[in-house]
Amino acid sequence: MVMEYLAFKAWVDLEECEMVNPRTISEYRCGKCNLSHNTLIAAEKCCEVKVADWENVMVFDLREEHLKLLSEANIVWDDCEFGAPGMDPKRPYGNSDVTGDIAEIIKLPKTKNNYDEDEECWKENAEDKLSDLHRQVMIAMKIVLRCRSFKLGKYQRTDKYKDDWKYMGE
Ligand SMILES: [Zn+2]
Repeated sequence: MVMEYLAFKAWVDLEECEMVNPRTISEYRCGKCNLSHNTLIAAEKCCEVKVADWENVMVFDLREEHLKLLSEANIVWDDCEFGAPGMDPKRPYGNSDVTGDIAEIIKLPKTKNNYDEDEECWKENAEDKLSDLHRQVMIAMKIVLRCRSFKLGKYQRTDKYKDDWKYMGE
């Protein structure tokens, strides 16, 4: 996976005290979620860590929005290595504007809190919520395939290295 990141530096000019060299403060942004980090490694690992958090959950609440996203999943043949079917990582729901697709599918309202009318884009908190929901689709997919069911509610597994998801109830 190619991680893109932007790095920019801010120089604090300390003209007043000649004995002190100008201090360099570095900020690294995750190319996927735009979150700021102090180190390059943290920025590179940012979204990997967020996925890992979902990979480690033991209980998952399968909701209608997960099923709506699964219904719109753009399934393709990925020719990497041996090849396997999966969601197109570039256009997982059909278009390259991934958060835009997700917002449309789950019908996220363009309220003042969620949407910037002037910039015509989702605000950071809404963008974060949409990206996180996309990561949750991984677990939702494991559950519906394993349980052969689209029943909404809570699911649990016995071990974080197993995907033996079982339905617990609503
Ligand atoms: Zn990130």
